Amino acid sequence: MDDKALHILATVFGYSEFRFHQQDVIRQLEQGCDAVVLMPTGGGKSLCYQIPAMMRQGVGIVVSPLIALMQDQVSALRQLGVNAAFLNSTLDAVTAREVEQQLRSGELDMLYVAPERLMTESFLNLLDQSPLALFAIDEAHCVSQWGHDFRPEYIQLSILHQRYPEVPRIALTATADDATRREIIQRLGLEQAEVFVSGFDRPNICYRISQNQGNARDELLRFIINEHESDAGIVYCLSRNKVEQTAEWLSAKGLNALPYHAGMTAQERQQNQQRFLNEDNIIIVATIAFGMGIDKPDVRFVAHLNLPKSIEAYYQETGRAGRDGMPATAWMMYGLQDVIMLKQMMESSAADERHKRIERHKLDSMLGFSELTSCRRQALLKYFGDVLEEPCGNCDTCLTPVETWDATEVAQKALSTVHRTGQRFGVTYLIDVLLGKEHERISSFGHNKLSVYGIGAELNARQWRDIFRQLIARNLLTVDIQGHGGLRLTEQCRSVLRGEESLMLRKLVKKEKSTVRKKASSIGFNTEKTELWEALRACRKQLSEQLNVPPFVIFHDATLMDMIERQPQNKEQFSRISGVGEHKLDAYGDAFLKVIKEFSEREKQALSSSDTADETLELFNRGMTAKAIAKHRNLKESTIYTHLAEKIAQGILELNQVLDLDEEQIKLIQDEILNLDEESSGKLKSVYDALDGVYGYELLRCVRASLVVS
Ligand code: ADP
Ligand code: ZN
Repeated sequence: MDDKALHILATVFGYSEFRFHQQDVIRQLEQGCDAVVLMPTGGGKSLCYQIPAMMRQGVGIVVSPLIALMQDQVSALRQLGVNAAFLNSTLDAVTAREVEQQLRSGELDMLYVAPERLMTESFLNLLDQSPLALFAIDEAHCVSQWGHDFRPEYIQLSILHQRYPEVPRIALTATADDATRREIIQRLGLEQAEVFVSGFDRPNICYRISQNQGNARDELLRFIINEHESDAGIVYCLSRNKVEQTAEWLSAKGLNALPYHAGMTAQERQQNQQRFLNEDNIIIVATIAFGMGIDKPDVRFVAHLNLPKSIEAYYQETGRAGRDGMPATAWMMYGLQDVIMLKQMMESSAADERHKRIERHKLDSMLGFSELTSCRRQALLKYFGDVLEEPCGNCDTCLTPVETWDATEVAQKALSTVHRTGQRFGVTYLIDVLLGKEHERISSFGHNKLSVYGIGAELNARQWRDIFRQLIARNLLTVDIQGHGGLRLTEQCRSVLRGEESLMLRKLVKKEKSTVRKKASSIGFNTEKTELWEALRACRKQLSEQLNVPPFVIFHDATLMDMIERQPQNKEQFSRISGVGEHKLDAYGDAFLKVIKEFSEREKQALSSSDTADETLELFNRGMTAKAIAKHRNLKESTIYTHLAEKIAQGILELNQVLDLDEEQIKLIQDEILNLDEESSGKLKSVYDALDGVYGYELLRCVRASLVVS
């Protein structure tokens, strides 16, 4: 059987080898046995049932709660030449009748259905008359009553086994915890099933968390422009208000940002979600209402402007990035205010004490995770019971190790201030006391007479806020239950207060005055490759519009990357690209080959012209000015600058070797260039005009070249 499965993998899907447990799972189903599959997002769960459905006689029934997704999955399968269809409430009666007819006549390889439809007696009657290959229950954690995605209809799916005992079943989920897994097995009657667990690491996601020093929005913008310009991404905010404001603000800065929250009409939400799926570079700014059912593979970043309330939520939300396995970033910025607000929300919630205790524990774990000074991935996996032996090298704490310092003494000052003022004041007031501020409120309480008054003058208010945040995050301080933001001491703080334990805290990282440096692309190519990347994306976009499917249904980013890597020149070579099966080879091979060939041609030409740029470089390196070189070579001075710009873009020359500009001027020009929108990028005229013609085109071209150096 293995040969047959491998054959389908190669010819239909265009992949050369199986991942994780795919092969074992397929074998299990092929033999008519049940399986429970836990695999991280993007791990390749769908192949686990798609391939056996094709191998076995009859149709594979796929149960999925995500109606919005069915259409995409079915179009993706059709693009591969697989006979798939879906049945849900979005279909009109005539189309639904047709699908049912196809089902009865045994034409279908796979049928996606919503659980509520599957469980109707009329549909079950239909199934009685059709040969069945298997049942796949996707998003199987929806059966769990404790999870946030609970679907009552899922409970009834156990009927399938009673009614069709000989048809193998497979339940799939990316949800990590043990309790959910047990619940799936029990509720769906899968005690006999083999369980396949693939670990939860998402190695392509780079985790980054930093502290908000009051400029989170600017930092977000800088992050997007520097690392993910023209990428698709999701920005999570806690409130609708913040969603609206952030989306507006990002749009004003020239990004394609759209809001999404429960306060919008269903139609507006649908529209924005559709654009996110169908276009390449949309940023959705959303509350956590957005995400379930978003299966877009090429989301390159997920940003949090607030702290999620548990590690589970963080893992799930960040997990929407990089499903295609290509590099992606999980970026988060949070601050003291978040910590206080979440603690307050939790303490004042109506939940019973048992629930509160669980939630408190979850929030504390999340806070601890945010303040970590060791590898984040190790901690994340450990939380889910996985072990990663070595630090990952792809998270912020691995990439730029955090400095810590012995903060025992300042912590004692902060804690004493809380104690002496009676454990009822908020951070701002406490800091004022520490700094010895003179104001009426303090004197009216007589706090200017306390021994702690003014003992914290060695630090400024921002540094103190940073310390208070860490003290709360480490549970040395807690926020009062009445919800006024007053801080109280906890049991844990005693040993620090008494000096029995020393306390190491993160050093506050100074705000960097970083300039915007645009990378050629988030995936990190050099300039020429970026050109090919853009051309391939344009080709994909055109096809997707013609066929009315999202671009990733044509080819994933990973497949385009492979084309850039190998630059196939004929169909035979093209067929070896990962993600190119027989059907897609026929359907799109020519279009993409044409793009690649045109690019190769252009590159050849550029190569011959680069000789002349090299000559310019050599003269320049000998100390000649652009003017002198132009005269010497009998070329226009602007041509010489074009050569020099090319060398700057290649990283061979530094901008300041060529131009005599100060930082300020360069920053000014760079900002103008970065402000260009999609359409006018490449056209420097508007930059020239915006700067009142002070800087010539030669000069602008060089500055632009300096921006693409990666
Ligand atoms: P999941 O449902 O687990 O999140 P998918 O089934 O959507 O993941 O697969 C994620 C991506 O990985 C898809 O683009 C899929 O085509 C690709 N993929 C799956 N299996 C393989 C494989 N064996 N080799 C290469 N790519 C694969
Ligand atoms: Zn790490």
